Amino acid sequence: MAFILKYWGVRGSLPTAPSPEEWVKQFEGLMQGFFKDGYFGSDQIRDYIKSVPLPHIGGYGTATTCVELTSKNTQMIIDGGSGIRRLSEKMMSGQGGKGTGTYHIFLTHFHWDHLIGLPFFAPHFVAGNTVNYYAVQPELEKMIRGKFSRPYFPVSFESLGAKVKFHKLEPRQPMILGEFTVTPYQLDHPDPCWGFRVEAQGKSYAHCVDTEATRSLESSLGPDLPLYRNADLMYFDAQYTLPELAEKANWGHSAAQVGLDIAFREKIKHVIFAHHDPGADIHQIEALRQQTQEYYEWRLHTAEMHKLKLPKVLWRYAYEGLEIDLEKL
Ligand SMILES: [Zn+2]
Ligand SMILES: [Zn+2]
Repeated sequence: MAFILKYWGVRGSLPTAPSPEEWVKQFEGLMQGFFKDGYFGSDQIRDYIKSVPLPHIGGYGTATTCVELTSKNTQMIIDGGSGIRRLSEKMMSGQGGKGTGTYHIFLTHFHWDHLIGLPFFAPHFVAGNTVNYYAVQPELEKMIRGKFSRPYFPVSFESLGAKVKFHKLEPRQPMILGEFTVTPYQLDHPDPCWGFRVEAQGKSYAHCVDTEATRSLESSLGPDLPLYRNADLMYFDAQYTLPELAEKANWGHSAAQVGLDIAFREKIKHVIFAHHDPGADIHQIEALRQQTQEYYEWRLHTAEMHKLKLPKVLWRYAYEGLEIDLEKL
């Protein structure tokens, strides 16, 4: 039994890679760190690399939102950002390449960063495969057909080898997909955007990207409160700092501090902060992480001063390739 999440893309708005100059700077910093930490020989390079957290070496990733959820017998995908291209390679080396694959892609909304990878999901082109799309928005079929149309993309929807099916989800109504129960709840984002609560093996995952979380209070969340309540893991849109959040009101993205407030109140055990700004490099995300740590400690400290007990919340910043087994958290 398992409930595994793999994050193939965690960036927001636009896929962004560091420039060659930025890589040179990063390389310089790592070399300096190597000697500063007392290493000196080439046979110690591996030990040094192991001592540094992965995102501090290779960054947090370049690809936009795509998450793979796997249980014992069921697999589903949330969003088709540019991260889905690498996932596609994995699929093509299995059933997808043989024309015997069935895929389930749930879409939160149709902003570019959540769809841009779909034409590069190669199982679409292999006869015998079936690709199922799911969304609350009634324009789902029109949007996907539009992705495979000239002059945006040279392969037309009609000439795809795979069978493509569309499924309309009902707001706040659970649907069963194999071992997963998937329930869409509305997020606070333009056009609009629907998050998903996915439950399996007695564990729950709340996918809350993209959202500004303007309705963060229990009273304002109303029918969308169950998205968060007692979730084992919440994936949360933390694109902005708190001052940026004030500056960019109604842009549809939030800050880690808002996510922590929700997590403390709704007894969410783990939080992953994501949808990193395309302009945020390794150091800026590290600065965000430190601000989040300060806020987290301040919340614990003030609770203690008022003799209140806050539930334990573990949190981290997402990086591309991060894999989590909910059953082992
Ligand atoms: Zn987005
Ligand atoms: Zn969006």
